[in-house]
Amino acid sequence: MEKVSSGDVLVAGGGVVGLAVALELGRRGAEVTLLEREARVGRGATAAAAGMLAAAAESPSPGPFFDLAVRSATLWESWAPTLLQESGVDCEMEACGLLRVTTSADRAAELDARRSWQVASGLEVSPLMGPEELRHEVPGLGPDTVAGLLYPGVAHVHSHRVAEALAGAGRRAGVRLELGAGITDLRSDSEGLTLVAGGVRHRARRLVLATGSWGSDLLTRLGVRLEVQPVRGQMVALRPRGRPLPRIVFSDGPYALQKRSGLVLIGATEERAGFAAEPTLEGVQRLTSQAQALLPELGGARFETAWAGLRPFLEGGPVIGALPSDPRVLLALGHYRNGILLAPITAELVASALVDGSSPPELEPFSPGRRLAG
Ligand SMILES: Cc1cc2nc3c(=O)[nH]c(=O)nc-3n(C[C@H](O)[C@H](O)[C@H](O)COP(=O)(O)OP(=O)(O)OC[C@H]3O[C@@H](n4cnc5c(N)ncnc54)[C@H](O)[C@@H]3O)c2cc1C
Repeated sequence: MEKVSSGDVLVAGGGVVGLAVALELGRRGAEVTLLEREARVGRGATAAAAGMLAAAAESPSPGPFFDLAVRSATLWESWAPTLLQESGVDCEMEACGLLRVTTSADRAAELDARRSWQVASGLEVSPLMGPEELRHEVPGLGPDTVAGLLYPGVAHVHSHRVAEALAGAGRRAGVRLELGAGITDLRSDSEGLTLVAGGVRHRARRLVLATGSWGSDLLTRLGVRLEVQPVRGQMVALRPRGRPLPRIVFSDGPYALQKRSGLVLIGATEERAGFAAEPTLEGVQRLTSQAQALLPELGGARFETAWAGLRPFLEGGPVIGALPSDPRVLLALGHYRNGILLAPITAELVASALVDGSSPPELEPFSPGRRLAG
């Protein structure tokens, strides 16, 4: 087996999280190699994502997760133009706003309560709206919608393009991308870390583990038990014939949003189906019939395609930071429904911890130490 010296830092996993971390480390002058087992970056959960940067809709209660998500959504505002400059790839960020709607009176009361703490925390959100106001925002809404909130600041991006942009900017910042490099072994000893990937041995001083739903396997090789579970999400893409969809529509069931290409994405199921990442007839049927109730005009849309991806779920939310048993290994795992949203803040926090040795207080609730102790 050929022996290569990979330098300072190895990043395992070329999804949005690993790519973002590698880029930020490269920008800060670290010598970085990213190892991805697929022939292209961003083929895991990242490829399946709708790309919503929806901190508001994804956080049912106030707390550290909401704060992290809001900070990351703010970072995205400068991240997207910087990535364009650094890579030449446009992430197709659309700040179209998000309409959170419901068909249930009980849920309407919950949304109103949610609004109170969100307003108090400085988030821009409308008063609770009735059916007429909602239809003013999205004229094609179905008759069952009774109430909702408008978050005018919410944006979405094109997840494939995000992965491309991160890879391009990373290369420019000196990151070495090793594709087709599936990591099959990982050891740690007093001299450093050794990984075997694609039949090649890599040595490094530090390792960032960002292998998404496949995170547990490599961790067990370090004697660490942390169960990252794959949660399948199916998505359908339609070519509408009617009016454009002016905002993201996020219901108690599916959400719908229109990409710059004109495609409307309908997502997403949440299923425990092991590592099977294919769409099913049942999943597609459920999404399309719910979407038709939400936006009846979609009934005449052309069916384009369907896909599925595996969201990396960790009980208690993402873990970001150094392993207490081996601080040379940092985790960036368990971003579940929000990896695209959380990529910039994850990259910033991991890079600060790794390059400056700082552990910002906002990382504490997500630290592996806490989770492993719990
Ligand atoms: C249907 C759907 C819709 C979504 N919508 C949104 C959304 O609107 N907004 C949002 O913020 N998030 C969304 N998400 C969630 C988001 O996609 C994930 O949180 C995010 O992609 C996780 O990124 P990751 O880099 O951790 O994992 P992944 O993207 O899965 O990347 C992990 C990478 O590690 C590689 N890998 C694994 N094992 C190894 C190994 N042994 N050696 C080398 N490489 C390895 C994999 O090949 C993969 O490329 C959605 C997800 C799904 C499925």
